[in-house]
Amino acid sequence: MKEEKIKQNLQTWYKKNKRDLPWRQNTNPYNVWISEIMLQQTRVEAVIPYFQRFLTELPNISSLATVKEDRLLKLWEGLGYYSRAKNLKKCAQVIEENYHGKMPETFEELKKLPGIGFYTAGAIASISFHEPVGAIDGNVLRIFSRLYLDFDDITKEKTKRKYFEKIKSFIPSENPGEFNQALMDLGATICIPNGKAKCEQCPIAKECLAYQQGKVDMLPQKSPKKERTVEEKTIFLYTYQDEIAIKKRPKTGLLASLYEYPNQKGFWTEKDIQEDAKKKKLPIKNILYVKESSHIFSHIKWNMIGYEIPVKEKIEGFLWVKKEELFSKYSIPTAFKTYTEYLKNK
Ligand code: SF4
Repeated sequence: MKEEKIKQNLQTWYKKNKRDLPWRQNTNPYNVWISEIMLQQTRVEAVIPYFQRFLTELPNISSLATVKEDRLLKLWEGLGYYSRAKNLKKCAQVIEENYHGKMPETFEELKKLPGIGFYTAGAIASISFHEPVGAIDGNVLRIFSRLYLDFDDITKEKTKRKYFEKIKSFIPSENPGEFNQALMDLGATICIPNGKAKCEQCPIAKECLAYQQGKVDMLPQKSPKKERTVEEKTIFLYTYQDEIAIKKRPKTGLLASLYEYPNQKGFWTEKDIQEDAKKKKLPIKNILYVKESSHIFSHIKWNMIGYEIPVKEKIEGFLWVKKEELFSKYSIPTAFKTYTEYLKNK
């Protein structure tokens, strides 16, 4: 049977080729949960130092449930998609309140928690609690669509559910977590996207219909992403002696509750800034052009231009922080990296 062969070959391959990752050294549910949330939208290499730092400071559910939001966002700074961090805390609080501080142990219960979806529930249930359920994410769907020469759109919930059901018929009852991790590793190192699949090294190539029929590059099928909206912004790095002006973003929406440099919509010229300062009586000394930069979010792209503007006295309405404090205490999103780097190197 094809599935039996796939299972055996994957298990043998995984024993020899498994990636040595810090969250695999202790597969308690907390570690698996944190790592899986961090790994969404982020490369493994980038996650490793974050994971270690996070676990050192917040080693368990109760410490996560009570951490101050600013500190949590600082620990997450640079990873992006900050709602993931906020959901982690929210979820830890729900576990504290409704589950006596203990992570629920089944796929169905895990899925009810905030921020824990189909994939993460499958990963925790199978890796930490040995429940024979799949952990189906985009990587695994790519493998399956190729294995079965399946042209269904893998971004659709229906496709995910189809394979969630299918995998139940052959996921091993012993070590189901290892099987899921074998699929994760195959998707990350061998059955990779963008026409680069290493089929000659693949342990399940003989069972793979797309490979056998020379159609690997046609799969997976995905509906095209929506075009991104482009926004233009001007960043103002107001400086007063060794202090810098920042402000907190609103509590909801993109980059909610993080800190940012003052900014305005559109590309401002030096003349625009001078005229505006005159109108608002801002005590600016001079205007130094810094750099242009851009940042891509999932649905929006920011094109930015930045200026450093030393001022004669602090402008009201901002939080003025010393340079060292800015880098150690406040979480400024990666979107502003160019300007943070500029300030660091000044
Ligand atoms: S043979 Fe190629 S396309 Fe098929 S599962 Fe292996 S790596 Fe993926």
